[in-house]
Amino acid sequence: MPIAHLQESKRVFTVPKILCIGRNYAEHAKEMKAAIPTAPVFFLKPPSAIIHSGESIIIPSISTDVHHEVEMTVLIGSGGKNISRDKALDYVAGYGIGLDMTLRDIQAEAKKQGLPWTLAKGFDTSAPISDFVPARSITNPNDVRVELKVNGSARQSSSTSNFLFRVEDVIVYLSQFITLEEGDIVFTGTPEGVAQVFSGDKLEARLLSNDGSTLASIAVGVR
Ligand code: MG
Repeated sequence: MPIAHLQESKRVFTVPKILCIGRNYAEHAKEMKAAIPTAPVFFLKPPSAIIHSGESIIIPSISTDVHHEVEMTVLIGSGGKNISRDKALDYVAGYGIGLDMTLRDIQAEAKKQGLPWTLAKGFDTSAPISDFVPARSITNPNDVRVELKVNGSARQSSSTSNFLFRVEDVIVYLSQFITLEEGDIVFTGTPEGVAQVFSGDKLEARLLSNDGSTLASIAVGVR
């Protein structure tokens, strides 16, 4: 079973599911020529898509346009349904950084035909995740930085203060419809700057506090 690690602890979570928010930054919605949503848009990735730092994204032969999307990730520590806004952050075990790897050509065709995004978003290796920093070490998850470098050059950089839907709003919304379980991971959406990756690229993603210190990081290759 795919697993997630909490830093500074021997605790290992098996991951029942991965929920991903789309269009959670206005500037990314704009670059995708998509409307700014009035409620969170979300989709699922299978846990089998998870890879960890040091592993490689494998470009499937069906696609010639694989994109990176760097995103803060949320590790759910205890399950719940119809979670209230004031309690929502109590359900979080930790925060990390992840890559919502996307077959943009396959997704564009699915959008055009009104078909599901499952292949575009859920292929093997499409969910690189870092270890998670314990939730108590982050004062406000809606005010940290996400950053991606490709081959050492800055590619995406933003603050979760730009979220359209804050972490607690996302948990409230999702848990109305889909029961959250211990070990679930939520990808919180990507800021602007998504672009194609190529075989041989090195991707380094970080979650940073506002003083610039690294909270979580991942480095993966592309094959
Ligand atoms: Mg995404």
